[in-house]
Amino acid sequence: MDCIFCRIIAGELPSNKVYEDEKILAFRDIAPISPVHVIVVPKIHMDSLNDIGGDSAGYACHALKKLPEIAAIEGTTDGYRVVSNIGENGGQSVRHLHFHIIGGKKLGVNFA
Ligand code: AMP
Repeated sequence: MDCIFCRIIAGELPSNKVYEDEKILAFRDIAPISPVHVIVVPKIHMDSLNDIGGDSAGYACHALKKLPEIAAIEGTTDGYRVVSNIGENGGQSVRHLHFHIIGGKKLGVNFA
């Protein structure tokens, strides 16, 4: 298995877990860009949002539904940002669909 997030899900690599259920795992980003920075991953492999279909859609939707709860666990009280990078130009470095929860401070508006 060469996908780092699949290996974290399988317990082969450690993570700083924030939340887990049967469909998703959430853990703190190893290189946080904000006081709150959590990665939320579906427990089945798909490269990105471009690949949602069939069963994988249920996993991705479940991840989206759980974002507020996971953000609250980390103490966000007044909003946060959700990012999902897609592909080379989108800045995606790990090719396993994931959502970044970024918060814990007033964020700027520069997405470039
Ligand atoms: P992206 O660039 O959108 O693909 O985001 C991948 C994110 O995964 C980056 O913010 C990395 O810091 C984070 N990351 C990579 N490896 C790990 C790891 N082992 N544990 C936690 N976060 C990781």
